[in-house]
Amino acid sequence: MLYTPAVARLVEELSKLPGVGPKTAQRLAFHLLKVPEEEARSLAEAILDAREKVAYCRRCFNFAQEELCEFCRDGRRDPSLVCVVERPQDIVAVEKTGEFRGLYHVLGGAISPIDGIGPEELRIRELLERVRREGIREVIVATNPRVEGEATAMYLANLLKPLGVRTTRIASGLPVGGDLEYADEVTLGRALRGRLEI
Ligand SMILES: [Zn+2]
Repeated sequence: MLYTPAVARLVEELSKLPGVGPKTAQRLAFHLLKVPEEEARSLAEAILDAREKVAYCRRCFNFAQEELCEFCRDGRRDPSLVCVVERPQDIVAVEKTGEFRGLYHVLGGAISPIDGIGPEELRIRELLERVRREGIREVIVATNPRVEGEATAMYLANLLKPLGVRTTRIASGLPVGGDLEYADEVTLGRALRGRLEI
């Protein structure tokens, strides 16, 4: 027995967090035992508070504290433009670019037969419904540039195009500071196809 039972429980719970190994879990646990009790309580309450108050936006499936998320409620955004992402955290990444003023749709993942994730497990039906109902002009598919994300983008394009909606894919460019010779052919091919006027 390395720890007293309460500490063992804390270490075990912390080590379940993504990116936290046993050593980090131990460090965090010992840290939490040292901080003022108020600080530890505040962390515990923030976790419970977020879990209690946060659900999914009924329109785009982003995290939301009300029926609609802050983007869906923002009247200044363009509702005819929808950016499709895999997860809510991808919205944060797109927002940080400051380049997008439309709305979002969170699929909840990407098609991955190996992990048992088919189209029915994702919010694709809900996306098609939105396209039919909301007068959407363009759907920008911003799934991750991996095999699963590409397959999902192709699948969506096949469903969306017959509905008469413009369907585009983000150009995944070369990393800044990278050399062409080290880029894989998928990345370089997409960078060429996604070229912009300069
Ligand atoms: Zn929303």
